[in-house]
Amino acid sequence: MVLSFASNDYLGLANSAALRAAYVRGIEHYGVGAGASPVAGGHFESHAAFEAAAAAFVHMPRALLFESGYMANLAMLTALSERGDTIFCDKLNHACLNDGAQLARADWQRYRHGDATHLETLLKSHSGTGGRFIATDAVFSMDGNLAPLRDLLALAERYDAWLLVDDAHGFGTLGLGGRGTLSEMGLTSPRIVYMATLGKAAGVAGAFVAGEPEVIEWILQTARPYLFATAMPPAQAAALVTALALIEAADAGRARLHGHIQRLRRMSDSFVMRGLAQPRVDSTSAIQPIILGDNGRTMAVAQGLLARDVWVPGIRPPTVPDGTARLRVSLSASHAEADIDALSRALEAVLGAGAS
Ligand SMILES: *Cc1c(COP(=O)(O)O)cnc(C)c1O
Repeated sequence: MVLSFASNDYLGLANSAALRAAYVRGIEHYGVGAGASPVAGGHFESHAAFEAAAAAFVHMPRALLFESGYMANLAMLTALSERGDTIFCDKLNHACLNDGAQLARADWQRYRHGDATHLETLLKSHSGTGGRFIATDAVFSMDGNLAPLRDLLALAERYDAWLLVDDAHGFGTLGLGGRGTLSEMGLTSPRIVYMATLGKAAGVAGAFVAGEPEVIEWILQTARPYLFATAMPPAQAAALVTALALIEAADAGRARLHGHIQRLRRMSDSFVMRGLAQPRVDSTSAIQPIILGDNGRTMAVAQGLLARDVWVPGIRPPTVPDGTARLRVSLSASHAEADIDALSRALEAVLGAGAS
């Protein structure tokens, strides 16, 4: 048996009995396919039920369901912006926010990672009269650190911009009842358009975009990835209603997960202090990178761990910046203390051996 630290199933819900049962009940009730785009007959009761439940859960007026986070980001960016607008993106945003920005007709500019001061410089020197959008991951997918959302929201207010937040890794794991990074930071604003994915902590697949009613209606009416794609299977939407309830009830799982996170932070600090890994930005999320720098060494260490039945993916450029190849440890409430012990022993054996 290989012990995996590769999955984004942060709460261990993907295989939960309640979720499997809800999915099966959904199939018995609806069959397996939606049969059409949501605007052409593919939007069932279960889709509407999920959208209402998701909006209520994150305390936003309205939500719209998508088959994946990738599609949701493409939809959000291409529908909301138009020619003459500018999208300001964090340098380390997820690939699908970049792809959405590229597909949109708006101009786009990148600001230095997590650097609200640099973003302000760009906003100040920006002379266009079109709309402005600031797009960011809430939890960065390769470093696990949080975006300075409070500062970004202040800039959005000062420079009359929208703030688009991709919370793929915060939803379910952070905030009150797992409501995500905005809840964690206590932020609400009609300028925020919020995107959360449902294939990570929620354990299924899909995503939703939430925000002001007119914003969501506009996306529904105009986003091509929404209009021209077959809707999510209604049984899956039914399972997702159950997933939301499971997320909210998962305080014990989140407490266990955050215990694992604290241990991993101490572990990687110790590797950094002993010169076995490079300094990294602090991560309080379930994503805990151990940066080794060299591509070859990173893949050799990942292989060495695998030989000890521990699977930690090695991540190389271009997924991460040059010279920052890393092990990306992804933690879950489904890990036991003993699993973290096993990871610790395997890392000591392989990283420690490589240094001498
Ligand atoms: C995984 C991820 C996505 C894509 O979500 P899918 O539902 O897997 O398509 C988007 N943004 C971020 C930051 C992600 O980590």
